[in-house]
Amino acid sequence: MAAPCRLILRLAVVSGGGSGIGRAVCQRFASEGASVVVADRNEESAHETLELLSRNHKGQEHMALGVDVSLKDSVGRLVNTIQSHFFQPPSICVTAAGITQDEFLMNMTEEDFDKVIQVNLKGTFLLTQAVSKAAVAAGISKGSIITVGSIVGKVGNVGQINYSASKAGVEGLTRTAAKELSRYGIRCNCILPGFIESPMTDKVPEKVIYKITPLILMGRMGKPAEVADVCTFLASDDSQYITGVSIEVAGGLFIG
Ligand code: NAP
Repeated sequence: MAAPCRLILRLAVVSGGGSGIGRAVCQRFASEGASVVVADRNEESAHETLELLSRNHKGQEHMALGVDVSLKDSVGRLVNTIQSHFFQPPSICVTAAGITQDEFLMNMTEEDFDKVIQVNLKGTFLLTQAVSKAAVAAGISKGSIITVGSIVGKVGNVGQINYSASKAGVEGLTRTAAKELSRYGIRCNCILPGFIESPMTDKVPEKVIYKITPLILMGRMGKPAEVADVCTFLASDDSQYITGVSIEVAGGLFIG
């Protein structure tokens, strides 16, 4: 069955679009009629995503661009390039770029703590700021920013002192952005994935997966496409009265 076309004529940028959840979001947005800019620090994987979009969604123009979301200049260049190419800024933005650098609290180096905050939290700030400024300056009347937090930002996780802090920060950032940007017609919401199959979780040891899976009510890890479904809802007018919220996409992990 063909996907409903809820994002026709919309331009979206997806950071981390070269892999896992970001790639699934790019594919889903394109299938709903959006033009998609795949933005990733890994340019090769961004182009692989573009290849999938160009093959399967020929009706719209898509683009792949390299970006390091932790660097203001790089994010500025990304948004400028999108504007010069499409003659408009994106009205939909998903901040899926993220990293882990796991270690127990007592062994975590300052460098590894900073690295994760720089990408996950500061990167979300820089992209949210650049996209919203461009959208407001261009007079875009309807926007949706979807940030990617994590369930562990709410409940914490052993070995992820840096990551859980960064993701808790993303939730607070999103609620504040929602308050400041509602007057411009820009909605901001945060998704909180649980335990999703992706290159990021491929690194998780088997014994940890074995311990976590019974805690998931759905009894299995989630799929990137299941997170993309929720991002599509938040990007589309189906959620036009929703802003400033966090939505768990976690199969019931940690609710008990
Ligand atoms: P992934 O497969 O590792 O994808 C993340 C992508 O972001 C990679 O392509 C990565 O490039 C890119 N990236 C990393 N640092 C970047 C930077 N500074 N600038 C631009 N791009 C950068 O991970 P995923 O599982 O899809 O995760 C996507 C998001 O969901 C992340 O924010 C993650 O924290 C969040 N999340 C994931 C899960 C899960 O279970 N998978 C759960 C909760 C939240 P490289 O390949 O070069 O690193």
